[in-house]
This record gives sequence, structure tokens and C-alpha cells, in this order.
Amino acid sequence: MERARIGLVGLGTMGAALAMNIAEKGFPVAVHNRTTSVTGDFLEASGKLRPRFTGAVSAAGLVASLATPRAIIIMVQAGAPVDAVIEELVPLLDQDDLLIDAGNADFHDTRRREAELAAKGIRFFGMGVSGGEEGARHGPSIMVGGPAETYARVQDIIEAIAAKYEAAPCAAHLGPNGAGHFVKTVHNGIEYGDMQMIAEVWGLLRDGAGMRPAEAGDLFAKWDEGPLKSYLIEITSKVLSATDPETGRPMVEVIRDSAGQKGTGRWTLIEALRLGESATTIEAAVAARSFSSMRAARAKGATLFDAPSEGSVPGVSDLETALLAAKIIAYGQGLSLLTAASEDFNWGLDLARIAEIWRAGCIIRSALLDDIAKAVRAGLPEGQLIFAPAFAEILASGVAPLRRTVAAAAMSGIPAPALSAALAYFDQMTRARGTADLIQGQRDFFGAHGFERMDKPGTGFHGPWAMSKG
Ligand code: NDP
Repeated sequence: MERARIGLVGLGTMGAALAMNIAEKGFPVAVHNRTTSVTGDFLEASGKLRPRFTGAVSAAGLVASLATPRAIIIMVQAGAPVDAVIEELVPLLDQDDLLIDAGNADFHDTRRREAELAAKGIRFFGMGVSGGEEGARHGPSIMVGGPAETYARVQDIIEAIAAKYEAAPCAAHLGPNGAGHFVKTVHNGIEYGDMQMIAEVWGLLRDGAGMRPAEAGDLFAKWDEGPLKSYLIEITSKVLSATDPETGRPMVEVIRDSAGQKGTGRWTLIEALRLGESATTIEAAVAARSFSSMRAARAKGATLFDAPSEGSVPGVSDLETALLAAKIIAYGQGLSLLTAASEDFNWGLDLARIAEIWRAGCIIRSALLDDIAKAVRAGLPEGQLIFAPAFAEILASGVAPLRRTVAAAAMSGIPAPALSAALAYFDQMTRARGTADLIQGQRDFFGAHGFERMDKPGTGFHGPWAMSKG
């Protein structure tokens, strides 16, 4: 029997979809799942693709059914399960075989695993896969990190299963060791920010303008035909327009207002802070999810204070432009974080390529990403997306609506932390004379930290406060 080109361990939601996608593109796949019955069920449901699969009841069976050098995708829950699968596979493998972790791993784990496996002569990729189950089945965006010379072995498979943007595959080898998983992590962080800003606009429409979900759904559908066109705006429209079959009420009114999170948003922030990059829009989104689960405290708070009602929500055209402006700023923060990480880890990340492979397949896919890719290729002034001519032009007129939106939210007591963070970032990055003069003065006052002067070169100057401290 023909040996399989690639193996896959973990036939859960993502693994099963990915295996079907690979087989559909013509590659024979060997599959294995810890719980054997899952493998049987998967094969039974695989329909006309069944001949392309070899089902293995054990890791040894999987390894034996693969062409050499072997390549095995691991698609299990992130963390200890990945280590458990690697531990089981490694004694069965030969030198130069390749393991690919396609889950949402913490990129520090990926770096560790790559180093440990390299010492044993086993190749390892950390591969970010975005697009949810639908993406995995029909074309995800794929971000690969690991030894570059090994990529050619699986490039045809990866590119065949990836989403296509104008026929170009949304998949790339982005750098060594943790690069792929880090880029996926930042992708998810940006996704958090994007979703939060959309939700804040929904809050303004619902609580400020009194708009019903279906009407807001129509509005988002209209916005999906303009510059905001994106998967997240599209699904927002669908969620807001949906009716609960059980109660007949708008679905969104039945859904509990507590959001879950699995960690990638938090990991993005931790790394941003470590690198001295404050991804404030993402921080606002992660915090908002945390606050959302404090339902009892929020309910108590609502009884203690009267909600202000001084603001009036700007018109929908203002809100659309405000959302676009905030989104550009948030993506700019994400790109700055990628740049900082690339320098710190010496990854050589190609930001334009990253924007290109996010244009289709992934959750943050949008019309904007093609413009971002072009702007990055042309070179970002001072490394800032918001200064790129195409985006500076949008922001020149788009920030005023964002300002009115944030002001209205503040005056109405409607939370808009991510939109506010975007505006604050813009204001800081466009103010030539900041207020760190005072910070430096304070630091020198209490700690003799010294400062630089505007009027002469040098460092370590001190103010006259030594005398006044008594
Ligand atoms: P599921 O919960 O659907 O499936 C988990 C799989 O992991 C099952 O096959 C399970 O096997 C296996 N597994 C768990 N623990 C172990 C273990 N100790 N040893 C061996 N196998 C184990 O998860 P998903 O498919 O949703 O997610 C898989 C990965 O993909 C995760 O890292 C997730 O974050 C990531 N991801 C998920 C997305 C999504 O939209 N769902 C999108 C992008 C990435 P068993 O049947 O025996 O329990």
C-alpha cells in the first residue's frame, strides 16, 4: 500500500477539518487519535476521501504508515498534551523526521520544543493555523516557524491547503523556531482588539442610540460593503440579525455577556510589555473580557451609580469612520509589536508578507490588509503604519469622528476602552512636545536619575531641587 505523505495526530475539531482538507488536495494522510473510537468515526464520516486515509490505532502504527523522511502534524490542545504526543512519537522517529505543532501554542513552548528536538536530530515546526474549523477545512491562513531548509518538504501541502488571495496562498515560512506561533499569537491579539472595538460600537448603538439588534445587523451589513469590509464585520451583521429559535428573541439578547478567552490575547500582552511595546488596544480588549466575567460586581455597580446621559451618539457615518480609524491604529500597534519581537529574537520577520497571508483565510481577514501589505512594502515612515501616506490620509479626516465617538461614549458612561486606547495612542504619537519633561523632573527630584537638556548635548543633568529639598 502507498505510504502516506503526511501524518496527523488529534482528530478534534481542527485536526479532523485539516486532515479532510489535506486529503481533498490529493495527499494521502495517516491519522491517529488518542481515543481510538474517534479515529473510526472520522474515517467513517470521510466519505469519498476515505481511500486517501490510513487510520492508525497507535502512534507506532502511524509512524509505520508514513513515507520517509516523515512529517507529522500534531493538532491537539495546547500545552501538556503537545508534550505528551511528542514524547510518545520521538522514540519511534528517525533522524530528520519532522514534527509540526499546528495548535495555538505559547511560542516560548515552541522555542523550547524546537531546541529539545533539534538536540535529538528531530526537526520541529510551530505552525499557526487561523480561520477556525471552516478555515481548517477549506483554507486557513498558515504561519510557519522552524528550520527554513525543512520547509520545502511540506511546502506543497501547506500551500495547497491554505486559503488563496487572488490565487496566492495565504501561507508562509516566517522565520525560525517560535516565529510562526508568535505571529499567530499577535494575529489573535489583533483579533481581540478588532472584536472589542466592534462590540463597543454595538454598545453605543444599543445603549446610546437605542438601536435594535436587527437594525444594527443591517447597518453592519452595509458597512461590510465599504472600507470596513471584513470577516468580523460580516459575522457581526449575521450575529446581530439572528433570532433565537427557542424564544423568538434576537439571539444577541439571549447570549450571556461574559466572554471567554484561551490565552493568546494575554500572551500577546505579556510579550508586548516585555519588549517595551504597549499594545494598548489589545490590553483594553483582554481586560474587557476579564471584566465581562465579573457579572455580579457589574450588576452591583449598576445599582450604586446613576448612568450619565449627557452624550449623544454620533451619526452612523461618524461611527463607521471612527471604527476604521481605530482599526488602523490598532493594526499599527500590532505591527510595531511584530517589529520589536523580530528584532529581539532575530527572526527577520517580513511584515508585508505577514499582512499578505492575513488577507484571506484567517479571522482578521479584511480589505484593509491588502492596503497594509502595500504600505509596509513601500516602507513605513518611522516604522509607523499610521504615518504611511495612504493611512495618514484616512486618519487626517477619520480621527475627528473617532474623537467625537470616544467623547460621546465618555459623556454617556458607555464603555469604549479600545476605541479610547486607539485615540490616546494616536494623540501621543502625533504630539511633538510630550509631558515626559515633568516625568524626568520628578524622577530626578526623588531619585537623582538625571535628565537630558533640550539646549545642550549630554546626559545626567540635575535640577535645582537638591537645594529646595531641605
Ligand atoms: P478539540 O478539543 O476539538 O480536540 C482536541 C484534540 O486533542 C482531541 O483529538 C484530543 O484527543 C486530543 N488530545 C487532548 N489531550 C491529549 C493528550 N494528552 N494526548 C493526545 N491527544 C490529546 O480541540 P481543537 O481541535 O479545537 O483545538 C486543537 C488546537 O487547535 C488547540 O491548540 C487550539 O487552540 C487550536 N485552534 C483551535 C481553533 C478553533 O477554532 N477550535 C482555531 C485555531 C487553532 P481525544 O479525542 O482522545 O480527547
